[in-house]
Amino acid sequence: MENEEKSLNFIEEIIEADIRSGKHDGRVLTRFPPEPNGYLHIGHAKSIVLNFGLAKKYNGKTNLRFDDTNPVTEETEYVESIKNDIKWLGFEWAEELYTSDYFETLYAYAVKLIEKGVAYVDDSSPEEIAASKGTPTEPGKPTPYRDRTVEENLLLFEEMRSGIYLDGAKVLRAKIDLASPNMHLRDPLIYRIKHANHHRTGDKWCIYPMYDFAHGQSDSIENITHSICTLEFVPHRPLYDWFIEQLAIFPSKQYEFARLNLNYTVMSKRKLLQLVNEKYVEGWNDPRMPTISGLRRRGYTPVSIRNFCERIGVAKRENIIDLGLLEFCIREDLNKTAWRRMAVLNPVKLVITNYPEGKEETLIGENNPEVAGGEGERSIPFSRELWIEREDFMENPPKKFFRLAPGLMVRLKHAYIIKCEEVVKDENGIITEIHCSYIPESKSGEDTSGIKVKGTIHWVSVSHAKTVEVRLYDRLFSVENPVAMENFKASINPDSLEIIENAYVEPDLLHAEPGKGYQFIRKGYFTLDTKSTSSKPVFNRTVTLRDTWAKEIQKG
Ligand code: ATP
Ligand code: MG
Repeated sequence: MENEEKSLNFIEEIIEADIRSGKHDGRVLTRFPPEPNGYLHIGHAKSIVLNFGLAKKYNGKTNLRFDDTNPVTEETEYVESIKNDIKWLGFEWAEELYTSDYFETLYAYAVKLIEKGVAYVDDSSPEEIAASKGTPTEPGKPTPYRDRTVEENLLLFEEMRSGIYLDGAKVLRAKIDLASPNMHLRDPLIYRIKHANHHRTGDKWCIYPMYDFAHGQSDSIENITHSICTLEFVPHRPLYDWFIEQLAIFPSKQYEFARLNLNYTVMSKRKLLQLVNEKYVEGWNDPRMPTISGLRRRGYTPVSIRNFCERIGVAKRENIIDLGLLEFCIREDLNKTAWRRMAVLNPVKLVITNYPEGKEETLIGENNPEVAGGEGERSIPFSRELWIEREDFMENPPKKFFRLAPGLMVRLKHAYIIKCEEVVKDENGIITEIHCSYIPESKSGEDTSGIKVKGTIHWVSVSHAKTVEVRLYDRLFSVENPVAMENFKASINPDSLEIIENAYVEPDLLHAEPGKGYQFIRKGYFTLDTKSTSSKPVFNRTVTLRDTWAKEIQKG
């Protein structure tokens, strides 16, 4: 992926041109500016990989700036989770900064605009202000407050800060152009009154800067060279430049790329918060959530997420990425790194009638056949009675069924070839036991039987099996674009979580490490859940071995 010949994306082209021309002495400083009003999601990962990746590539740095200008929705819990997620993804920021640290400077900037005669206090109601802006086809009209004197504006703005006015009683607006074809330039709001406690500044302020007034100036205060954001900010760019020009401060520049959209999920923090608050999911880190913490708990690795973000690239036009690509990236990584284990999720008992009762053998399996040396090996106990998957047996199999059926032979992984001799059923006709014979000379690794079989199935020794809970996840939404629905929550996939309370696993899985991926042979990739305990291990399925949805679609 990270190969040198890869062609440059458009932001890299801009940066390389800037370096060539000696702009900012070739310095590159980017920033990642989350609002601490929720947990980071995979869309943020794209922005993180881009911002930190560019800085790394061009010997620059990246600031982490919490864009905390909205006291009502922001919390310290979110700040901590965001820092944790960025570190986990493998990135280090140069400085940890807060827009709220600039409140005093931003206030002074606003005063400067008032003094220049390009900002005014407006007493109009929100409705009146909206009306004053006109429509895209009709110019706006000044409100009665637009021509207040500089002195009056300075006094009123100071009073706004002092707390004597109620929320919404007044706002500060930039005086730009009420007839501009760009609605964002029609005297935008720059400060509003909000008597609310802020997670860092407490009750010090009751006026807060609007996003457009805070963002570019914060970039400028930090001497950010390339301020990268998503396409919806294209129409804000003239305003970004206008403030910087009026204030004659460091000329940061904004560049826009297409945000990541993924099908079968929602990505806005506001919607994710609804899923959490209304208990559709267990929390922000529910393994079905597209959050970084959810993906981590599900078993995604930092490498897989970084590779995904690099693979989708940096586009200038909106598109929708298939969730299958994210799953491809985690399979690709786990195939290389996951340790192989055997687990039976839907068990039926298999008895090897010619294997001595009470006899036990210790078989050996490599941890990871994908790497030379196998990363060591583990012992797998074998005995007369085994659990196998119910679906690995069929009484009347179709042609080419290479698993177990009366009279057919299969290999037991790491063990022997067996032949099905008989099935035992209960009074309801449900199979309770499958009786087989085994070929003693067919032991894996020392097979002298000369018998060739087509199928291999996994198993767990009944007397050695450990019981664990297994959680199988599927996509959270059953429609491609939930946001297009009238009520996105109505399209939640009712089968997005299946809990298997008693699955049988080989004993070594009791030593599973948190955060590590395990391939349950033939069943998928799994990882320990964060709520797992030694008395009750819980495994999450990260992803199936193959794309089962692609097959569904082909079948029609
Ligand atoms: P949301 O709409 O999910 O709440 P946001 O844009 O309001 O997202 P911020 O905390 O403001 O969230 O975002 C921090 C940074 O992450 C911004 O630079 C934003 O452009 C970027 N970002 C957010 N969502 C995406 C996405 N889906 N794809 C790429 N970048 C994103
Ligand atoms: Mg935002």
